[in-house]
Amino acid sequence: MTDSEYQQTLDTGAARMAQVRERWQCAKRYKFDTLATHGLYTVQEALELNQGSIIEPLYASTSEAYRDSNHMEAALGYEVPTWCYTRIHNPTQQYLEWTLALLETYGSDLEASALACASGMAAIRTATDPFCVRPEPGKTNFVSTPQVYGGTFQQFSLRRADEGVAVRWVPEPSDVSAWAALIDEHTRFLYGEMPSNPQQGFFDIEAVAALAHEHGIPLILDATIATPALLRPLLHGADIVVHSMSKDMITSGFGIGGALIARKNLDYDILPEEARGDFGMWVKLWPFRDNGPAISPFNCLMVLNDLRTLRSRLDLLSQSTQRVAEWLADQPGIEQVDYLGLPSHPLHDIATKYMRLADDGASRYGHLMSFRVRGGGPAARRVFDRLEMIFRATDLGRIKSVATIPAISTHSQQGEAARAMADVPANLIRLCVGAEHPDDIIADLQQALEAA
Ligand code: PLP
Repeated sequence: MTDSEYQQTLDTGAARMAQVRERWQCAKRYKFDTLATHGLYTVQEALELNQGSIIEPLYASTSEAYRDSNHMEAALGYEVPTWCYTRIHNPTQQYLEWTLALLETYGSDLEASALACASGMAAIRTATDPFCVRPEPGKTNFVSTPQVYGGTFQQFSLRRADEGVAVRWVPEPSDVSAWAALIDEHTRFLYGEMPSNPQQGFFDIEAVAALAHEHGIPLILDATIATPALLRPLLHGADIVVHSMSKDMITSGFGIGGALIARKNLDYDILPEEARGDFGMWVKLWPFRDNGPAISPFNCLMVLNDLRTLRSRLDLLSQSTQRVAEWLADQPGIEQVDYLGLPSHPLHDIATKYMRLADDGASRYGHLMSFRVRGGGPAARRVFDRLEMIFRATDLGRIKSVATIPAISTHSQQGEAARAMADVPANLIRLCVGAEHPDDIIADLQQALEAA
């Protein structure tokens, strides 16, 4: 091997990166729907690299072959673009990650990197791990809203506790002073989910991000239910966004996946120097590679496929949900409807500040809602059991309407006291409204409510 051959390999890699950067700048000029449809997969990319394939190809291969030893050495040293091995990276995954980073920063000059993971839980773990290193048991902590998905509740309260990192639950997340009261010099990050599953929790992102930054720590937000079509937390000061892509991003229900999207330049002391400039890329190249929560390329393609219609779908589904929620609120058998789109919801105003349909600006609140049946848990089970068209499943974000009783499913493991803290009573039915005509959804609910 000669120095000039090695240099030639580096030059080819640098030319590829320059091409990607140029395409990125062009993509930044696109509207949300165009970005969601194309990402960085251009006609040129299709013709030069993928035999003209209109759709991003599925690279099912485990690994990448190298031209020669120069190429291999430069690639494994991360000196030239490489995907190497599907546990680390994959071309189909790359098209997805570029699209996610572009969508999550849409409407701003922010720069971010995305990392796709095997599941939403893997994404939450991967995003928070680097802030939980070298814990001092009894001291190291993080502060979170208790209104989080049941799996997140378990990961935070059990798995982190096993490692000597304590979660401190904020009793009233809409009150910034309640967050402030829990932060000390051992707090590593603030965490929230919004709107939360199933309670519709929400808080003032800008105020909580400002508080985190005053303390030199990041704000990490799970925005699964909103999706970037309705809410882009990085634009409001959050540092890292996590998603369960298993929901609206794979609405067809053909796969599981998660993602983290981190803004560039996270200057936090707990992070090693080399992680700060591009946290998302650093996580991918080091801890993610070593821990192995990789996503399958097939699932990446499923996300790409369903992302294309994300904005118009969330618009339609939000409007249907609004109708269903308004109808339910008028039914005598219903004690309470939890939907941020109802002006009677205590968090309606704050949600309205942030939840806006990309490009259009209309207030849209997503398609997850809950309702509490009069007569307690037994009445809720009777209504639930009578649903005919709506599926009973622990699922959401689906193109089909799906309902569950969280107290006996998604939130059963955390126990009654924790459910009371998170406001998940036994008579609460979670409904994720699908793309059926709202009249048919209402008809199914109406006949089921007769059983209450
Ligand atoms: N975050 C939210 C808001 C969720 O609803 C879920 C799952 O329901 C998760 C995270 C976990 O995602 P996954 O099931 O993809 O691991």
